[in-house]
Amino acid sequence: MQPVMLDLTTHERISQLGRRVLDGGQVTRDEALWLFSLESTPDIFDLMSWANRLREHFKGNKIHLCSIVNAKAGGCSENCSFCAQSSFHQTGSPKYGFIDPEPVLEAADEAKKNSVTAVGLVAAWKGLNEGPMLDEVCDRIRELKAGGKTRPDASLGIIKSQRVADRLKEAGLECYGHNLETSRRFFPEQCSTHSYEDRVETIGYLKKAGLKICSGGIIGMGETREDRRDLAFALREIGANVVPINILNPIPGTPFAKNPPLPPMEILKTIACFRFILPRQEIMIAGGRTVNLRDMQSMIFTAGASALMVGNYLTTLNQPVEKDLQMLRDLGLDPDWDNHGFADQESCGSGCAEKCEATEAARV
Ligand code: SF4
Repeated sequence: MQPVMLDLTTHERISQLGRRVLDGGQVTRDEALWLFSLESTPDIFDLMSWANRLREHFKGNKIHLCSIVNAKAGGCSENCSFCAQSSFHQTGSPKYGFIDPEPVLEAADEAKKNSVTAVGLVAAWKGLNEGPMLDEVCDRIRELKAGGKTRPDASLGIIKSQRVADRLKEAGLECYGHNLETSRRFFPEQCSTHSYEDRVETIGYLKKAGLKICSGGIIGMGETREDRRDLAFALREIGANVVPINILNPIPGTPFAKNPPLPPMEILKTIACFRFILPRQEIMIAGGRTVNLRDMQSMIFTAGASALMVGNYLTTLNQPVEKDLQMLRDLGLDPDWDNHGFADQESCGSGCAEKCEATEAARV
């Protein structure tokens, strides 16, 4: 059998790019696309080894854990093709109205017990306007904040006025989850009831209110590698603090039910590319990790992830939190994120010290 020759040119080019990001530089859009296009397993492991180094350099060994509560389930007016909670799809997913205080406070107790930094209230609806529902949402946030056990986060859809964002901030909200989901180009392929621009506009109001932004997307919906690259750069431009990467878990009854799964190495490579583009951000692996990565879940950290969504997802199950905590201990990682408050993200996340438009945007 012929020995497989190592392509040193590729190896050296990955190292060059890794070193540049480590030194505070950036990869260009073309260079990033080249990284996304790596195919061979040895090249992807090279890439991951640099992504791991970048994670260690910029984030240390702390892993930021988040959990979510489905605060209002099912019957959503939107038609996102991946989502079990859309009223356009027949999925058998649970439906209920906005939740009472008790389950939220129980989730906060559970979070505290498991070193989980944040509990996010997630609602299946188009968005939030001024009115009695906003009052109720603010009550839940105030209760969470007053309990002092966890950082109150929320993901409540599209916001159309500055006043709504300001009221959430006044209630004690610290971080708002609002994914761009995918590239601007691919967005209409997965949702037609609202637009990519609606999402960008919402993030503008949130940033102006002084909220931290948790924004990422879903991979495996049929988008190209170029779309994934574009998503990562868009997240850099909007100044996302936490970047959740979800991996499609095809739900029967949704338009994406028959999408072929992404191979685990493609998923790990995507995480590593995101770390190259977003070296200082919390890159969080969220929905779909258990079903898509199976025994390879622990490799997300070697691929550059620095945060993990734990506990069950909105409509699907995750592995038990104890198993995740054991995985972190086995890897020598520390789930105690110690509330450093995103202080290491003073710049746009690109790592450059220059005053640029994106850095200013991140400070807004
Ligand atoms: S992803 Fe959100 S907005 Fe889209 S259908 Fe599901 S719950 Fe509604």
